[in-house]
Amino acid sequence: MPELPEVEVTRMGVAPHIEGQTLTGFVARRPDLRWPIPDLKHLCGQRLLHTDRRGKYLLLAFPTGWVILHLGMSGHLLIVAPDTPARIHDHVDFVFGQQVLRLYDPRRFGAVLWHPKAAGPVITHAALARLGREPFDPDLTAAYLHRETRTRQAPIKQVLLAGDIVVGVGNIYASESLFRARIRPQTPAHRISLVRYATLLTEIQAVLREAIAKGGSTLKDFVGADGSQGYFQLTYFVYERAGQPCRVCRTPIKRLVQGQRATYYCPQCQR
Ligand SMILES: [Zn+2]
Repeated sequence: MPELPEVEVTRMGVAPHIEGQTLTGFVARRPDLRWPIPDLKHLCGQRLLHTDRRGKYLLLAFPTGWVILHLGMSGHLLIVAPDTPARIHDHVDFVFGQQVLRLYDPRRFGAVLWHPKAAGPVITHAALARLGREPFDPDLTAAYLHRETRTRQAPIKQVLLAGDIVVGVGNIYASESLFRARIRPQTPAHRISLVRYATLLTEIQAVLREAIAKGGSTLKDFVGADGSQGYFQLTYFVYERAGQPCRVCRTPIKRLVQGQRATYYCPQCQR
């Protein structure tokens, strides 16, 4: 599943091809993905002002409003030439003259949404309104994490995944950042000190920054017709390494299930 770094790298990959370009066509080859696909032909003739991202949502800003895209479980965005034949899972095209932004999504958990400017700022859209702070937002501080978790008795791993305090720390990066901060994933969020939240925040930002940098090397793959670019992987410390020796202390990595999601940790390094 694409996580925040993949979505940000997708944005970086497609932005130079479409920002400032005029939309000349819109094609939806099915009525819905996760939700009904709105008819966006009314945007034809408008220039795409800029792209943005909020959590795992990609935003395309037009003069009359925002297109909100989500890649779901399996979505990819590609830049293809207008005469490129659509394959079976190529569901939506945004045509910008000689460049087409194409959404490929075999599992169809992705989304195309429309938020007109008249409805207010895009951050008030129902999909975005309750999202927590961005991981690189200067307002995301250890003090904020500490304050917001004082009443949260759930394990820290699940609080990170919930996305209402901080967005973008998905299953992979939650396990990895907790390992790097030496915090056991089962620890109730309200029991973690301010000092440890400072370390955790540093590691969350570091692991996401490394993933985005790694993905940056794959940017050329966003241009092409095959849709096969894999999502990039860091060398993980714990994620999907159950039973293998910890890269720091050699203790076998443990796996447990929290909220139906697999969590990986080192019982020696993480306390
Ligand atoms: Zn260890």
